Amino acid sequence: MSTTPNTPATPATAPTYPNQVTGMWLLAQALVKVGIKDMYGLVGIPVTDFSYLAQQAGIRFVGFRHEQQAGMAAQTHGFLTGTPGVLLTVSSLGFLNGLTATANATVNCYPMIQISGSSEREPIDLGQGNYEALDQLAIAKPLVKAAYRVNRAEDIPTAVVRAYRAAISGRPGGVYLDVTTPCLGQIIDRDVAESLLFEPVDLAPAMPPAPEAVTRAARLIAGAGRPALLIGKGAAYARVEDLLKQLVDKAGIPYLPMSMAKGVLPDDGPLSALACRSTIMQEADVVVLVGARLNWLLSRGHGKWSKTVKFVQLDIDPQEVDCNRPIAAPVVGDLRSSLEALLAELPKYKMSIDPAWIEKLKAETTAKNAAFATRLKNESTASPMNHWTALSAIKPILESNPDIILVNEGANTLDDTRDAVNMSLPRHRIDCATWAIMGMGMGSAIGAAVATGKQVVAVEGDSAFGFSGMDFSTICRFKLPVTVVILNNGGIYNGIGVNLSGDGDPAPTTLDVNARYDKLGQTWGADTYYVTTPQELSDALKASVASRRPTLIDVQLAADAGKESGHIGYLNPEALQHVIV
Ligand code: ADP
Ligand code: MG
Repeated sequence: MSTTPNTPATPATAPTYPNQVTGMWLLAQALVKVGIKDMYGLVGIPVTDFSYLAQQAGIRFVGFRHEQQAGMAAQTHGFLTGTPGVLLTVSSLGFLNGLTATANATVNCYPMIQISGSSEREPIDLGQGNYEALDQLAIAKPLVKAAYRVNRAEDIPTAVVRAYRAAISGRPGGVYLDVTTPCLGQIIDRDVAESLLFEPVDLAPAMPPAPEAVTRAARLIAGAGRPALLIGKGAAYARVEDLLKQLVDKAGIPYLPMSMAKGVLPDDGPLSALACRSTIMQEADVVVLVGARLNWLLSRGHGKWSKTVKFVQLDIDPQEVDCNRPIAAPVVGDLRSSLEALLAELPKYKMSIDPAWIEKLKAETTAKNAAFATRLKNESTASPMNHWTALSAIKPILESNPDIILVNEGANTLDDTRDAVNMSLPRHRIDCATWAIMGMGMGSAIGAAVATGKQVVAVEGDSAFGFSGMDFSTICRFKLPVTVVILNNGGIYNGIGVNLSGDGDPAPTTLDVNARYDKLGQTWGADTYYVTTPQELSDALKASVASRRPTLIDVQLAADAGKESGHIGYLNPEALQHVIV
């Protein structure tokens, strides 16, 4: 594969040539110049020496066991900091492994740069079968926001700034930067190299909206009897919670957060309509999309949505407008500028909110919350435990420690945790997001801990954990304050799948309900727990929160806990449903 255990651990700037440096030295310095402080990756030929030089230059290098997870860390770093997370990969397979995360970052509008070494161009272009030969730039291009290749050391500072600007400007996304082996190893005079480095001016320029767009939107909002704000993770990313709070407080508009926007405004705030999603879709007359796309997660603007609802859309990307449903008032600009402009404009108009609309949403919220509390209470003593039993223990601990970042993936584990745990601070919930993928858990937990220094709890399904479990060792090696809670029902969806052939093999969805994941944690020196009751789970989670040590909690659930595809079973092709049901 891609790594070579015997790669010498000596930086390529040999002290015998003090007046000369390499391309890889210049790459490390160029990253420092744009403010990169952390890098995630997995090294080998041709980037090992570069990783040493980056560390020497003061960049924290977090080495992973799998490139995909290093990429998931970089994308989460990007989301949480608003600056690109950096992933370093080797050529061929390492590049491809990492590219899955860079593609995911692009789909989710997270800024990230994948820097990959690649083998020399000439034998690749002639198909001559060189070491790890792959036309990486061509492969990356359709999957990322922008892709560049540097062939000459002299171009490295420009290439880094270009990649940085592409990652964060406009709609953020994943950027691929291909650095060839000859370029990394190119010798260049130190004074020439130093003269090429520059500090870019205004890396994240404001992009204010057109005044007439703001006026149009303000008129529509002010005239609405049943308005709602739909807050997406673009708003979390843009750090506009202060402005959204003003909008809600002054204009009295109820809000509904998308999954990763939970906590931008408190889930349990007086105007939170978190429990009223269907009502808002069916009955609101004006919905303001704030950094949220009308994509599949919102039935692409159809399904339950009323035929007459009018949308205001605040987004950085003009191409997003009208892509699924006509937008009555697009406001294209960066969210901070757009919300500031809207807050200045709205007081010029008289608001028309129908008090009955607010009362209706409040009554529905009270009733739904009461029903949910009863459900949790009823399940809280189930033995063996199911997802709700476990969550009845997890919920109060996370809610009373709101500064813990919650990473969450799985099927039922994802859906039920999202429903159960209220968030009260922005950017404290990281999940599988737009593609609804599996396999981001350990990477995102590491990225969150490194980028913020905060404590992280990852609530994982057993299947979800399997994609990234080996990188629990990275949590231990870097002594990160991360607790991983595995809800083990022994399968994808659940552990009771039946092999229809009867040949004795496990069913496609069946995993290991008796696996002791806690023992895996012991290998790397983590604190570990195996729990079978909510009390044990509560005690273990409290202890891990207090210790801030790497912790792995294996939560034994019943094999029949959980259903096919969780809340999105309707997305399965019908034929499959006939077989399974
Ligand atoms: P969610 O899944 O939470 O609904 P999406 O990822 O679908 O969120 O949508 C996020 C939207 O936010 C994207 O359309 C993106 O263009 C937009 N966005 C991201 N950053 C900014 C910003 N700084 N200003 C305005 N819009 C932004
Ligand atoms: Mg499972």
